[in-house]
Amino acid sequence: MSNRTFTMIKPDATSKGYTGAILDQIIKAGFSVKAMKWIKLSEEQAGLFYDIHRERPFFGELVDFMSSGPIVAAILEKENAVADFRELIGATNPANAAEGTIRKRFAASIGENAVHGSDSDENAVIEGDFFFSKLERF
Ligand code: GDP
Repeated sequence: MSNRTFTMIKPDATSKGYTGAILDQIIKAGFSVKAMKWIKLSEEQAGLFYDIHRERPFFGELVDFMSSGPIVAAILEKENAVADFRELIGATNPANAAEGTIRKRFAASIGENAVHGSDSDENAVIEGDFFFSKLERF
């Protein structure tokens, strides 16, 4: 069990002005920020990040969406970070997300679902490395 996870606040949430409220909920839940940047992905970069979903029917939509506006990328630290963060954000589809979770509060649909959270310790490392150099984290 690792104590770090990786997140993105997605373009739907940054464009609706939810960035501050989402960060506030994350920090109040006990996560500390170990790296953070405000960045806009190109279609190519979004495709590389979500390469694992390349064969899925929604891949094109996902890439268009994730490159449509700025995101906030961050590495977060907390004991049991990956599982606890997945619980904090709620189910992929906000319609199925528990009351009070970030996706329930801020997401509109299964595609435009406000936040990303790594699904394993291994992917948390891969995803953090995708965005941050050693100099940009502590
Ligand atoms: P996550 O781990 O909860 O983010 O969910 P997945 O790994 O299954 O999917 C990755 C991302 O792809 C989701 O967060 C959504 O943004 C997007 N996605 C998943 N399913 C769908 C879908 O059916 N339609 C669309 N448009 N996007 C989807």
